[in-house]
Amino acid sequence: MPPFELVTPATVDEAIASLRAIAGSGPAVIAGGTDLLLDIDDGRTAPGRVVSLRRLPWRTLDWTDGALTVGSTLPLRSLEDDPDLPRRLPGLWQSVHAVGSVALRHRATLGGNLGRAAPASDLIPMLLALDAEVDLVGPDGSRRLSVDAFIRSSRRTTLAPGELIRSVRVPESRPSAFLWQRVRPANDISQIAVAVAFSPTRPGWSIAVGGMPPRPVLLTDVARRLGHGRPSEELLRDACDRASREVGLASDQRASEEYRRRLVGTLLGRAVRAVVASGEVPS
Ligand SMILES: Cc1cc2nc3c(=O)[nH]c(=O)nc-3n(C[C@H](O)[C@H](O)[C@H](O)COP(=O)(O)OP(=O)(O)OC[C@H]3O[C@@H](n4cnc5c(N)ncnc54)[C@H](O)[C@@H]3O)c2cc1C
Repeated sequence: MPPFELVTPATVDEAIASLRAIAGSGPAVIAGGTDLLLDIDDGRTAPGRVVSLRRLPWRTLDWTDGALTVGSTLPLRSLEDDPDLPRRLPGLWQSVHAVGSVALRHRATLGGNLGRAAPASDLIPMLLALDAEVDLVGPDGSRRLSVDAFIRSSRRTTLAPGELIRSVRVPESRPSAFLWQRVRPANDISQIAVAVAFSPTRPGWSIAVGGMPPRPVLLTDVARRLGHGRPSEELLRDACDRASREVGLASDQRASEEYRRRLVGTLLGRAVRAVVASGEVPS
């Protein structure tokens, strides 16, 4: 691995200042390092300096004001172990549980998953379907924006130079489900991932699909067709067919386009039925 200088600032201001000093030299922030260190090792990036977020007070988890707020550097394993998560945001728990292995989740973070913005991220589709927001802090202060607005395309986000993800806010309690398909569960990335959520307050469905470049996407039109409660079998079949046809898919080394089209329809049908089975969707 090429050498680099590692700095471990103790405060957010110090971290931002360290990043400013090297703005323009590519990704140089490290949280769990499960993506960044592989990128450095493979020569995809070569930062002269890497700023560690290890000492920042962002390993937090908080259920207040009708939302879950997760600090960006909280290891995914700690999020997964929260006793309330499976009940209050089941789809989010399922998506966290789907990431790699237990050992990986002890290091990997939500901030790192968003910062990497991989097309096959398992967490981004669920965050999209749950209307999650990111809280950013940088040289010009703080700002909050939707995950949908935060992700630009494959490995590209709207983070400005020197800006960091401080936390992620997920409105609760939404019945939700996350389903994925891969060749090898722990050491592979999803060929297709489907996230579904139902919002009881402004009643309606949200659907997001990941696994293909350039980025995970919301299927707003398909979701609208499911109506404001339990869809009939006919409506659901129609929505699954449309999703299969309308998502931009292609073949690569992980799966053919045709297989992916079938997966989108099949996983969407199963995910909607799982959410309906929660008993929290009005008829
Ligand atoms: C064997 C293996 C299996 C994997 N399986 C999966 C899987 O099943 N599903 C899945 O979704 N992912 C998977 N991944 C990818 C990876 O583990 C996740 O993306 C993880 O969440 C990244 O978090 P991290 O803290 O390790 O990120 P890091 O590697 O530390 O950082 C990743 C990127 O985000 C930036 N970054 C990190 N934190 C911040 C922050 N707070 N603010 C701004 N930028 C930040 C970094 O600069 C870097 O560009 C796998 C990786 C490996 C090696």
